[in-house]
Amino acid sequence: MKRHVLIVGAGIAGCCAAIALARAGWAVSLVEKQTAWQFQSSGIFVYSNGLAQFKALGIMDDMVATGFSIDDGRNVYLNADGSPLLETFYPGRFEGHRLVPILGIRRADMHRVLSAYLQQLDIEIALGCTVERIEHAPDSARALLSDGREVRCDLLLGADGIRSQVRKLLWPQVQPRYSGFGVWRSVHHRPPDLVDKIMMMAPGLRLGIMPISSQQLYLFGTVPEPEGAWYARDNWAALMQSRFSVFQGPAAQFLDSLNPQSEVLYTAVEEVLMPGPWHLGRVLLIGDAAHASTPFMGQGGAMAVQDAVVLGRLLGAEASVESALERFSAIRVPACRFVQDVSRQVGVSGAQTDPGEHAKILTAMRATAQQRVDDFYAQLERFSDHTTTGKTS
Ligand SMILES: Cc1cc2nc3c(=O)[nH]c(=O)nc-3n(C[C@H](O)[C@H](O)[C@H](O)COP(=O)(O)OP(=O)(O)OC[C@H]3O[C@@H](n4cnc5c(N)ncnc54)[C@H](O)[C@@H]3O)c2cc1C
Repeated sequence: MKRHVLIVGAGIAGCCAAIALARAGWAVSLVEKQTAWQFQSSGIFVYSNGLAQFKALGIMDDMVATGFSIDDGRNVYLNADGSPLLETFYPGRFEGHRLVPILGIRRADMHRVLSAYLQQLDIEIALGCTVERIEHAPDSARALLSDGREVRCDLLLGADGIRSQVRKLLWPQVQPRYSGFGVWRSVHHRPPDLVDKIMMMAPGLRLGIMPISSQQLYLFGTVPEPEGAWYARDNWAALMQSRFSVFQGPAAQFLDSLNPQSEVLYTAVEEVLMPGPWHLGRVLLIGDAAHASTPFMGQGGAMAVQDAVVLGRLLGAEASVESALERFSAIRVPACRFVQDVSRQVGVSGAQTDPGEHAKILTAMRATAQQRVDDFYAQLERFSDHTTTGKTS
């Protein structure tokens, strides 16, 4: 009989784990709290390491066809007035594959692709459903769901994001931690000539511009915000406009066009720093539930997909679920912590509001930015190797 996994949360982690485990021969049930299949708009970057994971799941080509590829991997940095600052190039190779270096994609489009594969694999999804209680038996978990069902499974995955209910039930001591930053995002029509990934820098502020489809691009701006700050949704467009008004050059046309009807999102950025192991009995946390990161390296989604790929490999290969779960944390905890640490450092340096200190940071960036990109991806590749070679440190 097939082993059964219950996955809580149909975000990137949950959908990709469903695909990976279905392909590894498991029976998969997926429950999602939202009552409709609608995922927040705005965009997301996927770099070559994330695309390598999509490739391992067999879904990369559809992602690439749906999003916008930066084929030369170029990341253009500009000063606030639009003048050139520097350029870096992201690698187009990972795990031995030649890949698109940077893909921008609308989140809703990414979920449309994921949903098509869930359907193809006949994965049962219960919308408007969550887990209310979890009990352990020696070789299974039992979940009481909000729709009244009681489900016994060989493995329960908490893929329910930064405010994970599964984590709350089993690890109530682990709480998200506020990073000190807010992120403002907006979606715009893409002029045909805007084909670069652009990062604009000002003291304490960063503003990115990234194509996400043939028709659209998105803006994302980070700024220190007080903890607990709350802004009425109706004011988001005006607030985004005023927060980033210092930016001219290519950003000006998009900031100027913001109005109450614009598609704008505000997010207070939090992290989840959870020590391993990420499982208790037959319950495992993956994705943001276990390791939400600040967004400065654009890696949270890629880490969620890689969790799914690693888990699929381990559960397909290891004789016992217990040893697969042990190995999972040994492989994934250091890799995700590395990404969180680098991302946090990048955030802190970008938060420098003193113009003199900001200028020094830019001078250092000119000298070291490409080396830092290369070192970061080389380290991710080393972590990735451990999945296949069995090394864990
Ligand atoms: C501003 C910002 C920008 C980012 N940019 C990038 C980027 O460019 N590239 C990148 O790779 N990453 C990026 N990230 C990170 C990325 O968005 C996350 O790491 C990724 O979405 C995590 O996926 P997940 O499935 O673990 O969690 P989520 O995407 O949060 O999905 C969790 C799912 O679980 C559901 N759920 C929640 N609670 C319950 C419950 N109790 N019961 C059932 N279901 C539940 C939710 O509705 C949701 O569908 C960014 C993050 C932020 C905040």
